[in-house]
Amino acid sequence: MHLTDHSATDLLALLNSGQVKAVEVCQAYLARIERRDRAVKAFLQVNAAAALARAEQIDRRRREKQPLGPLAGLPVALKDVLCTEGELTTCGSRMLESFRPPYDATVVARLKAADAVLIGKTNMDEFAMGGSNENSAFFPTHNPWDLDRVPGGSSGGSAACVAARMAPLAVGSDTGGSIRCPAGLCGISGMKPTYGRVSRYGLVAFASSLDQIGPFGQTAEDCALLLEVLAGHDPKDSTSIDRPVPKYSQTIRQPLQGLRLGLVREHFGDGLDGDVESSVREAVRVYQSLGATVREVSLPHSNYAVATYYIIAPCEASSNLARYDGVHYGYRSGISPLPLGEGQGVRATRIWTVAANHPHPNPLPKGEETDRADNALVQMYRRSRAEGFGAEVKRRIMLGTYALSAGYYEAYYQKALKVRRLIRQDFDRAFEEVDLIVGPVTPTPAFKLGERIDDPLAMYLFDLYTVGANLTGIPGMSIPCGFSAAGLPIGLHLQAPPFEEERLLRGAYMFQQATDWHTKKPELEEEN
Ligand code: GLN
Repeated sequence: MHLTDHSATDLLALLNSGQVKAVEVCQAYLARIERRDRAVKAFLQVNAAAALARAEQIDRRRREKQPLGPLAGLPVALKDVLCTEGELTTCGSRMLESFRPPYDATVVARLKAADAVLIGKTNMDEFAMGGSNENSAFFPTHNPWDLDRVPGGSSGGSAACVAARMAPLAVGSDTGGSIRCPAGLCGISGMKPTYGRVSRYGLVAFASSLDQIGPFGQTAEDCALLLEVLAGHDPKDSTSIDRPVPKYSQTIRQPLQGLRLGLVREHFGDGLDGDVESSVREAVRVYQSLGATVREVSLPHSNYAVATYYIIAPCEASSNLARYDGVHYGYRSGISPLPLGEGQGVRATRIWTVAANHPHPNPLPKGEETDRADNALVQMYRRSRAEGFGAEVKRRIMLGTYALSAGYYEAYYQKALKVRRLIRQDFDRAFEEVDLIVGPVTPTPAFKLGERIDDPLAMYLFDLYTVGANLTGIPGMSIPCGFSAAGLPIGLHLQAPPFEEERLLRGAYMFQQATDWHTKKPELEEEN
């Protein structure tokens, strides 16, 4: 068995028992990245030198019998939406193509304190807006199961790198499904924790009432391991909740007795792919064989979830993204960012080359440039935003600005907030009857790159099953539960009441003890 095929949990045991060294593990993953990422393109930057130095340091500290953190020597990849001190944090956008935050996100600081080896930053849809990774300003990531298909998004790079065994663990963010959707499409496990469970300090904001950071791993156990380090109160994030963090990686082995599962009636209607439906139903039968009872529950307002989300998320985005004015930080029209320093890693150079060789994808229309020529400041703002943001981000900013404007605010934004409450009540009622809600995580398996690029509505509808957890704040998880006839992975969506991550993980672990979907890996060329 290749070192990189181990789950994070097994790898940690090998590291802790001294059977392998952190440097060997790091080298093995870097070699995988070197060979595989040419095709998958999951990484925006690989920090080979820094990661190796860190791994060496951990090995030395282990030799010297110094205390080590809970993830000592395990490589972890970070979605490029997380601030890393002094290192590029692009958010998949030209706007931040040369942004080096002066501080670490809290989750990054926690990972460092846990002695994880931060191996690189992963590709994503620009500002986390999208579900396919095609909105990255740099290049799309490819699904390791079929390189012609999308990995899902917006944390597609993080999901693809774990699926392709280029990192045992990765961190993502989920505003409307961005951890669960790519986990499902790439055949790995991924969790969006409860809103407030993980600090968002240093997460570049998309929609602040919905954003949440969470783990990716091959298995539920791996997610538990990582969540344990990510979760916890942080005074720097006023929305983070002060509650003890359970020992997820230990309690996960306790099976859930008398588990009551709910199937959402509204989630098995039109648009659900046949292969997805049969895999999900088969998964439910597995749970039944393990003693679970199943009943149908209703979320009567679920038909409004996508519409509600696509009002609230753009409204918050239009406010959050107002800060990119070309002055405070980020891209400024007409001014080249500072060149990269040495040792920034292979992918940084790639971004740089891509950025430098591409003409502005969104030039101002002819004539526009002169109409405000008298006001160079306004022109600079306009040009910076016109050139720095991609089409989808602009679409969201316009939708959000419109929905928040005087005269429309009540009709759109306030109405959406009211429906959000109704959706929350639907879930509360459902959870009076069941312990976990199960269903499909996406309506179809991975689609072809380019297939939906000109159809934003089709893209938005893809989020049908996932946005509910963000609107209500509850935790949700995707675990592999089968394959389509074309050999594409299918994800099972589990949702639990607020702060019941433990229940979610135990439920997922139970399933993974009885099935082997989570052990399947894509065969990438270099193995043949
Ligand atoms: N696909 C959704 C969107 O485009 C979700 C994105 C996310 O969770 N970050 O908004």
